[in-house]
Amino acid sequence: MNAVELKGLTKLYKKQPAIDQVDLSVEKGEIYGFIGPNGAGKSTTIKAMLNFIYPDQGKAMLLGLDSIKDAKEIRKRTGYVSSDVRFYPNMTTMEVLKYVAEFHQLKNSKQQIDYFIELFDIDAKKKMSELSLGNKKKIAITAGILPNPELLILDEPTNGLDPLMQHRLFEELEKYNQKGMTIFLSSHDLNEVQQHAHRAAFIREGKIITVQDITKEKSLG
Ligand code: ADP
Ligand code: ADP
Repeated sequence: MNAVELKGLTKLYKKQPAIDQVDLSVEKGEIYGFIGPNGAGKSTTIKAMLNFIYPDQGKAMLLGLDSIKDAKEIRKRTGYVSSDVRFYPNMTTMEVLKYVAEFHQLKNSKQQIDYFIELFDIDAKKKMSELSLGNKKKIAITAGILPNPELLILDEPTNGLDPLMQHRLFEELEKYNQKGMTIFLSSHDLNEVQQHAHRAAFIREGKIITVQDITKEKSLG
């Protein structure tokens, strides 16, 4: 069973396809890159597979579950980091992370939250609305990772992060991936994806153009 299976996923805006017949399979345990320029359809694909928007055609299965019928179960087992973080503007960063920990009934949550606060140099007292995009991203990423989901979907996570924080993020993602987390990483940065992903799909103007096997190419030198 694949972690993500998209078949013919299509979403129209004013009769124009934002994504057009997207087929994609992510195996369990992969770090899978999703590369394309701004406006290519990365966020639309992600929102459609998570059932935040309804596709006009096609089907998405996540963790073997139907994206529409089983949306609730999928939300429980999947982490999502949106490209533009807008949640909980009036809560402090600490309140957001504690809320996430409570919602998922996490054990040792204080230790884990403190770990990420230190790792990402988070100001625990600031309100979400007061943060820069990069600092909001750190909270969204932490909130996505903390529950240790089977599948973590990150939409342009490094936007706004400085190089040190990007480095720490990927170290963390690789650790979790080695413990079994499947990671779906959308990015416009080819380098970033080729450094960290095992395979990657390229999307342009709403269509998947090619899928690259990065691990295989590296092993062939
Ligand atoms: P990416 O995430 O790769 O930058 P998006 O999925 O956000 O791309 O956008 C794909 C296309 O769909 C773009 O042409 C964008 O303008 C269009 N689009 C996205 N969301 C909407 C919307 N809510 N209404 C109309 N058009 C949209
Ligand atoms: P938009 O660009 O349209 O604001 P988002 O990706 O931020 O899109 O959110 C799309 C939808 O998903 C919204 O209804 C939002 O409330 C919901 N949402 C965003 N982030 C999460 C999350 N981490 N978990 C569950 N739902 C979320």
